[in-house]
Amino acid sequence: MGMYDYIHIAPSIIRDCTIKCHACGHLAAPDGWQTKDFENCMELYSLDRDNTNTARMFKVDPPEQKYWVPYTKEEIEEYNNSSNLKWLQRKEGDGYYTKEGWEVYNRRKRFMGELPHQMVRTYLICENCIYEDKPPRGWIEIEIKFTDGVAVKITQLEEGKII
Ligand SMILES: [Zn+2]
Repeated sequence: MGMYDYIHIAPSIIRDCTIKCHACGHLAAPDGWQTKDFENCMELYSLDRDNTNTARMFKVDPPEQKYWVPYTKEEIEEYNNSSNLKWLQRKEGDGYYTKEGWEVYNRRKRFMGELPHQMVRTYLICENCIYEDKPPRGWIEIEIKFTDGVAVKITQLEEGKII
C-alpha cells in the first residue's frame, strides 16, 4: 500500500562502512532511510551498537510524554475559527510533540533480542544532491544481513549490482 518503516543509522556505522552517495561522494545521512522489509506501518528503528559494540537493530519508542505540548485555549480557538473543516477542528487535550521529542536520541530504544534474522534492504536519496535538477541524483541503497539480531554484513548496492 505504499507504506514503509524508517531506520535511523548511527553516524559511526555510516562512517565505518563508508556508506556514501555514488553520484556526489557525500557520506549518507543518518535519518530518512526507508525499508519495506518490516511491518510497513511507519515505525522507527535504529541501527546502532549496543554496549558490547555489536551492531543491532533497535525498535524506537514514540516520543516521551514530557515532550508533549497541549494547545492553549487561545490556540484552539484561533485555529478553529480559521478552518471550516469540521473533522479538522482542534479540541481541548490536543497538542503536539516538540521537535526535540522526535529526535531519536531522546527516545527509548528497545532491545529486539534475536530479531531481526533476515536480510533488510533500505534506501534513501542523498541529501546533498536531492535538489539537483539534472541526473545523477544519488540513490543510496544498502542491504544489511542480520543473524540472530546481529548485523553481520552491510553491502551497498548500486543499480542492482553488488559493488
Ligand atoms: Zn549525492
